[in-house]
Amino acid sequence: MNDCIFCKISNGEVSKEFIYQDKDIMVFPDINPVKPIHLLIVPRIHVKDFSSLEDNSLKVKIFDTVQKMAKEQGLEDKGYRIVANGGGAQHVDHLHFHLLGPMGSKVGW
Ligand code: AMP
Ligand code: ZN
Repeated sequence: MNDCIFCKISNGEVSKEFIYQDKDIMVFPDINPVKPIHLLIVPRIHVKDFSSLEDNSLKVKIFDTVQKMAKEQGLEDKGYRIVANGGGAQHVDHLHFHLLGPMGSKVGW
């Protein structure tokens, strides 16, 4: 997994200012934000994408963190979007969730 940018961020090879981190999860701003708030919620272990994630306790932990971040970032009532590209749609083959906002109301696609 030496070429994986998110593994390098996790092991400190690439330095990154974290919004939140613990032994399982890290949260940092997307380097190319498409909204004023654009965070990546990333498990430290290398899992290719969402359909490859088997650890149920990690699933819960990721979603707890996504929820916590949406609240902490003040997006609860400003409109937000949670996105996980997978199955080949992703650019980085290390599972991550995008938290994007503010989106406004009733934005649809
Ligand atoms: P995806 O297409 O879902 O795989 O998105 C990958 C995201 O990772 C993109 O939005 C990139 O801007 C972001 N990204 C790639 N490298 C870095 C990095 N070193 N730090 C922060 N975000 C990154
Ligand atoms: Zn990785």
